[in-house]
Amino acid sequence: MRMKVPYLDLPAQIHALRPELDAAIARSLDTGAFCLGPEVQQFEREFAAFCSAAHCIGFNSGTSALHVAMRLLNIGPGDEVITTPYTFIATSWAIVYTGARPVFVDVEEATFNLDPRLVEKAITARTKAILPVHLYGQPCDLDPLLEVARRHHLPLVEDAAQAHGARYRGKTVGTMGEMSAFSFYPTKNLGACGEAGALVTNRADLAARARALREHGSSARYLHDEVGYNYRMEGIQGAVLRVKLTRLAAGNIARRHIAQRYHALLQDTPLILPRDAGYAESVYHLYTVRHPSRDRLKAHLETWGIGSAIHYPLPLHLQKCFSHLGYQPGDFPVAERAARECLSLPIYPELTDAQIEHVARSIREFKHW
Ligand SMILES: *Cc1c(COP(=O)(O)O)cnc(C)c1O
Repeated sequence: MRMKVPYLDLPAQIHALRPELDAAIARSLDTGAFCLGPEVQQFEREFAAFCSAAHCIGFNSGTSALHVAMRLLNIGPGDEVITTPYTFIATSWAIVYTGARPVFVDVEEATFNLDPRLVEKAITARTKAILPVHLYGQPCDLDPLLEVARRHHLPLVEDAAQAHGARYRGKTVGTMGEMSAFSFYPTKNLGACGEAGALVTNRADLAARARALREHGSSARYLHDEVGYNYRMEGIQGAVLRVKLTRLAAGNIARRHIAQRYHALLQDTPLILPRDAGYAESVYHLYTVRHPSRDRLKAHLETWGIGSAIHYPLPLHLQKCFSHLGYQPGDFPVAERAARECLSLPIYPELTDAQIEHVARSIREFKHW
């Protein structure tokens, strides 16, 4: 049977929302509010409410929001920030853009998230913050991380770029640390039609300074209190995100349902499957399985018309851009093994039951484990 299962299918998602998106974009064109403006303001209110947070500040990317998060903590040259080596590179950009040094700590086998038991050993007099990621949509184990942070008087910033609406012990992620950063890159659970991101916090002082930093460091027009950036969210993206936000909760439920279907269909295969940790309700930004024969399985899926992806093939401590940090292969064995074995299967709300079954059937037909 020939059936195509693309790894991603953004056109299908856009198609279903096309009349609403057309109207939202037309509204922006008519008002001419292209940089920030009323649609962005309204989106900020709506996304803050979605996260049960006091403040949301719209940015032109998740990377920008993370960078400003580090600036808000006055992190700079000579400082260290503890983070995970097993994430998208942007998590570490936030640190290095300020001149500070990322200090990597290995991840947990079961969740791919920062291992709270290893964090305390990495703290030095120069440590200024802890920056964990909720990878693939699964919240990291926040309570023990917050406990270590509190004991050492360190702020914790959540990289929630993959975890819009995920819950940790019943609470939506994004407000448990000092602040959190979200990405609205088109493929994220909440995606713009272009680049966008946001910072979320309960602290009014941080929110006010973040608004200034995203707009050239100005608290009033043409008065610049500190060095800032052009990190404004576009008006059209605010309008688009307001439409997309109305579908986020249903999309997350659909993703969880697909994850359950995959689990039922694949649990007796040799694959290691992702599971919700006891404290977590993942939003399955990705459905990432593991097996040492990953590359052969990926090629096999391609012959069946099925797309898949590798998140991530090389941990950050082994990236060329960080060779000056002096890390070696073997420093973070759990992350390194995950990078060799991980494979992300298609997961998006528009995926049909027939497509899910096709993916499962092709995996069950794989003979070269
Ligand atoms: C996508 C992503 C980012 C960066 O967001 P952009 O909007 O692409 O700049 C940061 N961290 C993680 C974990 C991400 O997945």
